[in-house]
Amino acid sequence: MYIPGDPWAICDLCGFKFRISKLRKNYKGQMVCKEDFETRHPSERNTVVRERGGVRDARKEQPDRFVGTVTADDL
Ligand SMILES: [Zn+2]
Repeated sequence: MYIPGDPWAICDLCGFKFRISKLRKNYKGQMVCKEDFETRHPSERNTVVRERGGVRDARKEQPDRFVGTVTADDL
């Protein structure tokens, strides 16, 4: 069945045929289907968690520096 303005296209990752409106460009510039596009999400979540852990470590150092500076001024 042909839909004007919505031709068939091949997913660059799995090779199946999809309507071009169902394909999306991924971070590599490949035209991929929705399933292949969404498989990237778990790795993005891991990156966010790692960044949050880094922020927590950075905050731990700040109180120590602040207390140390105040103590030096008081003395
Ligand atoms: Zn695919």
